[in-house]
Amino acid sequence: MSDLAIFGGPAVIQQPFQRFNEIGAEEEAAVLSVLRSGVLSQFIGVWAPDFFGGPRVQQLERQWEKYFQTKHAVAVNSNTSGLMAALGAIGISPGDEVIVSPWTMSASATSILVWNAIPVFADIESNTFNLDPVSIEQRISPRTKAIVVSDIFGQAADLDAIMKIARKNGLKVIEDCAQAPGARYNNAFVGTIADIGVFSLNYHKHIHSGEGGVCVTNDTRLFERMQLIRNHAEAVVEAKGVADLDNMIGFNFRMTEIEAAIASEQLKKLDRIVVDRQNVAERLSAGLKGLRGLSLPFVRTGCTHVYYVFGMQIDSSETGIHKDQIWEALRAEGVPVSKRYVNVHLFPMYQKRVAYGTQGYPWTAPFYSGTVSYEHGTCPVAEDLNENGYLGLGLCVNRYSNHDVDLIIEAFRKVWINLAELRAIRFSSAPVSQKELQEVRQTP
Ligand SMILES: *Cc1c(COP(=O)(O)O)cnc(C)c1O
Repeated sequence: MSDLAIFGGPAVIQQPFQRFNEIGAEEEAAVLSVLRSGVLSQFIGVWAPDFFGGPRVQQLERQWEKYFQTKHAVAVNSNTSGLMAALGAIGISPGDEVIVSPWTMSASATSILVWNAIPVFADIESNTFNLDPVSIEQRISPRTKAIVVSDIFGQAADLDAIMKIARKNGLKVIEDCAQAPGARYNNAFVGTIADIGVFSLNYHKHIHSGEGGVCVTNDTRLFERMQLIRNHAEAVVEAKGVADLDNMIGFNFRMTEIEAAIASEQLKKLDRIVVDRQNVAERLSAGLKGLRGLSLPFVRTGCTHVYYVFGMQIDSSETGIHKDQIWEALRAEGVPVSKRYVNVHLFPMYQKRVAYGTQGYPWTAPFYSGTVSYEHGTCPVAEDLNENGYLGLGLCVNRYSNHDVDLIIEAFRKVWINLAELRAIRFSSAPVSQKELQEVRQTP
């Protein structure tokens, strides 16, 4: 007879884990010095030296360029606005198609819609959860102009293959590397391989300044266009003498001096934070190895993984039980796992095609001549993983000690030892009755 917590036994994990907090004396001192200066943001939306922001913003950009070995960095107030600036900079026009992953944060796709362009979702690789180059190639049409590739969960997509397809078809590539700062792909940092890389500095990421983001590029023209879009481009193009007026609808994507000061200190900690995550992942992998039907994160040869999420998969033909039921049992033991990621193409906005107004824009606009589909079944791998395979443990929420990791492993092992009992009970939304429980426990 088992003592699974889901059947009333004691949970392996009795206390919530400690939340990550990498904000310390360094950030505190940096913020104080900005506060005392009285200048909390130095941007101005006219063509003047302060068009590029204050000293902390510019210092962060130079520091980011040096760390990531890239020519240019543009600090912005979120990854979402960074993606919008990036797509505007590469010259996306109304009705263009941009290929994007369904297995990413929604902003990877909405940043396309913002320019009245059309997100086209390609399917993902089942082992890395990243965009599948084969599926990308199948989605290319005469209208395709770019690919937004997410380096999801902390590992690069198959960037060599994707860049090759892009170059062959004259497409630009933007890397959404919000979840993979410090990850490497054949020795280069993730974010520096595509035309533009966009990092996030929001609270939930490896390093953060509350909100914030940084775009990187080696292309000076794209760099200047992103700087313009960040800060009211339309008001300065004349004074700056900008000839390419397309997408010069400038926004206010400006980062404050306070965020920049915090981000500068945070970047100094990135190496250590990444190693901490990798150590947790390594210990988890060693402890969970060999559990029947459970696949652990796959790391592509030549890549490093920085484990934003420890992404697992369950093969129910091996476990004899659906992953949702295993998830339920693990949650009862106190393991903070999740059973779903996202399938962005299935969001109501795409299903109902309601984005700008209620008349189906931009899909029904005269400038769009394509027929994109967002139906169930357009991304079978991503859909099936979400429904039947995926189980994930976020590693950027809590600070896991070795002891914590060992408890998580113990909880998994406990559930796996009792899989037969779990399987025998017919799960439904109704709670398991005592009678049902007793019957199962009496059967050998
Ligand atoms: C967090 C995240 C974003 C959004 O970042 P913000 O800085 O909050 O705008 C975009 N894409 C991915 C993959 C993310 O994980």
